[in-house]
Amino acid sequence: MTQLPLRAQLASALGRTAATLSRATGRGDGSVIGGRIGLALEPDLLSKLARDRRLALVSATNGKTTTTRLITSALQELGDVATNAFGANMPAGHVSALASAKDAPYGVLEVDEKYLPAVIDATGAGVIALMNLSRDQMDRAGEIWLLAQKWRRALAGKNTHVIANADDPLVAWGASTAARVTWVAAGQPWKEDSWCCPECGGPLDRKGVDYTPPGGHVAGAAPLAMVPRPVEDDWACRECSFRRPQPSWFLDDDAVIDPRGQRWVLDLQLPGRANRANAAIALATAEAFGLPVQAALPRLREVRSVAGRYTTVERDGRRARLLLAKNPAGWLEAFDVLDRSLPVILSVNAQGPDGRDTSWLWDVDYRVLRGRPVFVTGERMLDLALRLDVANVPFQLVASFEQALAAQPPGKVDVIANYTAFQQIRAEFDRAV
Ligand SMILES: [Zn+2]
Repeated sequence: MTQLPLRAQLASALGRTAATLSRATGRGDGSVIGGRIGLALEPDLLSKLARDRRLALVSATNGKTTTTRLITSALQELGDVATNAFGANMPAGHVSALASAKDAPYGVLEVDEKYLPAVIDATGAGVIALMNLSRDQMDRAGEIWLLAQKWRRALAGKNTHVIANADDPLVAWGASTAARVTWVAAGQPWKEDSWCCPECGGPLDRKGVDYTPPGGHVAGAAPLAMVPRPVEDDWACRECSFRRPQPSWFLDDDAVIDPRGQRWVLDLQLPGRANRANAAIALATAEAFGLPVQAALPRLREVRSVAGRYTTVERDGRRARLLLAKNPAGWLEAFDVLDRSLPVILSVNAQGPDGRDTSWLWDVDYRVLRGRPVFVTGERMLDLALRLDVANVPFQLVASFEQALAAQPPGKVDVIANYTAFQQIRAEFDRAV
């Protein structure tokens, strides 16, 4: 790797020192403060640190931390990988991630949706993975259509290989100005933000069609069933030519079908449909780096939990599995992971990182929770309680997560919490099992 210019070296070193001090004084993992100091001293630091590496950027409303981890795990098959493992997904976090692995030839950076255009410009990343866009933090975030439009502008004219979810119309629109796109049929259970065409505003028709994957039989591959099968996520505008791009990768239940038509069973440790979709994107991204599926897939299977998501905390014989859900699409994916035989604790806060406006609670269909014990806590437990009452979901209000856990019989319980509620539980119950 070529040497950084002196000023950038100094900025990078001071940033690292600040990060170390920040950790030593208990002010977090230090990844943001170190990067901020580095950027203040050398505004081009991110560009300089990105130079001479092969980078992937990962952005979406949901799943970007997990997908970043999956891609990182896969690319470690090729060499050292710099990554922002703590979810510090703005430029200061990227500077810190790259500065702390100066010699890594690869980098995988989770990028906040709003910062993606700036980070594309600064890093010149060769590969960009885009999964989904949906309503999130309603009092802070801009309109997601505007976000997709900014992606389009940022990608136009760049020599970038985008890996994008063809089943999310807004992502398809946002990615389609890129010079090269590999489309992945990764699914889109949450459709409430994509009934209108992002190109012309007309209605999107969303219907199942008969579809046979491309490719055909490849030597050594399991033969494909060539019978047409329904694909629920096909979509097309009724009024203009914008329609679902032709995918070359498919998530097919518990497996991924690659562009040669070969079917790979995922068998992940991470639970749920959303993580299988993340894995499909990760496999396509790994292949963009020249890493074949057979080499990447075992690496994806090694990932057990990501920043505390899906880990279990234990107290007095109660084992609580933690699921993070920050917005309506995320809650839908969390419901998919729940064990139907278990009680569930729901905790909703409304601090800065959560967004103060929790009116999105009304967008979630909670009826799936009927028939199991439901416990409600968190700062906005009354808002959530009212919503559950309207949906005819019986529940119990509890003053704290600790009390909710104590109210369970010994054994397993599932927990869905939004951002700060999730972090509070992790901080209090740090004894993971
Ligand atoms: Zn249209």
